[in-house]
Amino acid sequence: MDQYMDILSFTFEELEKYITDAGYPAFRARQIYAWLHKKLVSQWDEMTNVPKKLRKIMSENYTILPLCIKEKLTSEIDGTSKYLMASYDGGIIESVAMKYSYGLSVCISSQIGCRMGCRFCASTLLGLERNLTASEMLSQVYNIQRNAGERVDNIVIMGIGEPFDNYDEVLKFIRMISDSNGLNISQRNITVSTCGLVDRIYDFANEELAVTLAISLHAPDDSIRKTIMPVANRYSIDEIMEACRYFIMKTGRRVTFEYTLIDGVNDSTECAAKLVSLLRGMLCHVNLIALNSVKERECRSSAIQNIKCFEKYLQKNRINATIRRGMGRDIDAACGQLRKRYMNGADTGI
Ligand code: SAH
Repeated sequence: MDQYMDILSFTFEELEKYITDAGYPAFRARQIYAWLHKKLVSQWDEMTNVPKKLRKIMSENYTILPLCIKEKLTSEIDGTSKYLMASYDGGIIESVAMKYSYGLSVCISSQIGCRMGCRFCASTLLGLERNLTASEMLSQVYNIQRNAGERVDNIVIMGIGEPFDNYDEVLKFIRMISDSNGLNISQRNITVSTCGLVDRIYDFANEELAVTLAISLHAPDDSIRKTIMPVANRYSIDEIMEACRYFIMKTGRRVTFEYTLIDGVNDSTECAAKLVSLLRGMLCHVNLIALNSVKERECRSSAIQNIKCFEKYLQKNRINATIRRGMGRDIDAACGQLRKRYMNGADTGI
């Protein structure tokens, strides 16, 4: 399938131009866009108020829904569902649906694989296959909304891949998913998580979006960070902090710092103290996360008492911090774990 045949990749304006150029009135574009991006149909024939002839022309030239659900695992602990989805060219990615009191939250992938090389992460073990298109990111959300039979309220771009390594398509996705002609998900309910590609943080700050930025920090200084995140050799924590301050100044939005606690690596009181001095006075929130052990990786999670101590230390020093509730532990819900098992040909348990 060529990119130009992928109808979901058309923005509203592009579709309107295409339809009017083909000699149809502009309202036909509005109808088709609504079928695709609001009613989430997967067949041209379902577009009952669109003339048969136009449907036929469109179906001969364009495809709907580039990803299909291959497997779905639901946690017996908390109802979290993990979806394995396949692209038209055989790529496998994961998306997760989490039910919170405030609604359905979906975690999507931005790339097939990842090239950032974080030592504790399963997504990067097989390297990067390719970037996902904006429509493949939309398709993850649409598939889940249809499958769950429930409106998606929140989106976190925290699945497989580094979103700022696929900047243009991620931006296009954010604009399309928050478009009032489509699902119209508030940008305030969207979070992008990056391992800290500094140049892109500046670009992102300048986009005039109301999206939350999350930084995967995981260490209070460069020497520890370099042992677990190769990207730390490229950008220093000081550079990341400066970029975050710029983001806060431009958007007025609080930045989230993700900090996964790894036993004996970044969980000492000394680390907590360094983190406090790094973040003091900044408009931010720290998300403390217990490491999900990955079979192929040596890192182990800190004990829960340690994580609680770390949290208390930050709070005592007036840094906003909470421990993230681990969701779907029984279904390999951490980044890339299920895909890895699938790619290895292991039984996914379904
Ligand atoms: N590349 C982006 C987004 C995807 S990773 C980023 O780095 O932010 C989403 C989050 O999950 C990141 O904070 C990442 O560091 C974390 N993560 C990856 N593997 C993990 C694991 N095994 N246990 C806990 N958190 C993990």
